[in-house]
Amino acid sequence: MIALNNLHLINGSQPVNIGIKGKLIASVNTDVVKAGELTLNFSSAIALPGLINSHDHLDFNLFPQFGERFYDNYTQWGVHIHQQYKAQINKVLQVPLALRAAWGVYKNLLSGVTTVVDHSDGTKFKSDLINVVQDYHCLHSVQFEKRWKKKLNNPLKFKKPYVVHVGEGVDDLAHEEIDHLLKGNLFNKKLIGIHGVAMEAHQGKSFKALVWCPQSNYFLLNSTADIKTLKQHTPILFGTDSTLTSEWNIWEHLRLAVKTEHVSAEELWASVNTAPAKIWKLNTGELSANKDADIVIAKASSQDINSLYKLNPEDLLLVMHRGSINLFDEELYQQLANQDFPLQQFDRIKIGNAYKYVSGGINRLIEQIKSYYPEAIFPVIPA
Ligand SMILES: [Zn+2]
Repeated sequence: MIALNNLHLINGSQPVNIGIKGKLIASVNTDVVKAGELTLNFSSAIALPGLINSHDHLDFNLFPQFGERFYDNYTQWGVHIHQQYKAQINKVLQVPLALRAAWGVYKNLLSGVTTVVDHSDGTKFKSDLINVVQDYHCLHSVQFEKRWKKKLNNPLKFKKPYVVHVGEGVDDLAHEEIDHLLKGNLFNKKLIGIHGVAMEAHQGKSFKALVWCPQSNYFLLNSTADIKTLKQHTPILFGTDSTLTSEWNIWEHLRLAVKTEHVSAEELWASVNTAPAKIWKLNTGELSANKDADIVIAKASSQDINSLYKLNPEDLLLVMHRGSINLFDEELYQQLANQDFPLQQFDRIKIGNAYKYVSGGINRLIEQIKSYYPEAIFPVIPA
């Protein structure tokens, strides 16, 4: 049993102790946990469920943001960046796919994301560090997925949802594309849409859920989905998309989402934990007994939900996935060293002004990537 002691919860009145047994949370209450394995004591810290990022392309996170103006839709953007940035794109693609995706996993882990829904065309990425969800039918989009209608209407595939970029634009084309998709869904398969910038309420209600990626939308289109309306018709999940169109740090995305005033602080928070846990059928998204021990602990002086949106990767004290500590702040180093914790499995890195210890060989990965692509820029420095 692992004990994580003296932690505040969002809107909680008094600090709790969390007991973790194996991969699961055993208890969250004020009782003393009979640890045995490991005990960590915190002060002025808040415990959160590990975040769920419902949209990313893991292997696209070595790209910088490409695009220098606003576009009408994603096809226009796609054509433009392939002309304009051809040389830079090819440089990034020199890095083997598995290494690029491994970096994508770290991009998420460093921000406290313990589940990411990866949108890749059939390439399976596995990781021990976070949960990579690919258990759905992936269609790129109406414009870029060849024979999408045939794939969508495959009579043997009924169980899992179809996940598709849709309505990523501000013009008629983007709007009509949604109707086109819905009309082509002959057997009424479960659809999860990504972006939906051009989506209207009557279209939204035909989706099992919509993944909102506001930062990517504003970068590409200077606009985002009408979430204020759409949230009344379909569940809203939150996604970052890749660094091709957005920043690496999900907390910046959440802050932007707050500013849009489309959702309340509580609704936004649900869109990165309980809401996606339900849609993707995950045993996570909340801190309670028998849920997966996917836990983020952050420095926090207040348990008010609004204060969460001030956080950054620098402020994270610990990230746990299914009972394994995969990242911790140097503040915890001594406590861990005193308890025979396998510190040698962790690399030391610097994020902003903070030092973190991360498992899985992040520093070697950075070195390997740089051997293929020396210009690669990372938000962390091996230290
Ligand atoms: Zn995408």
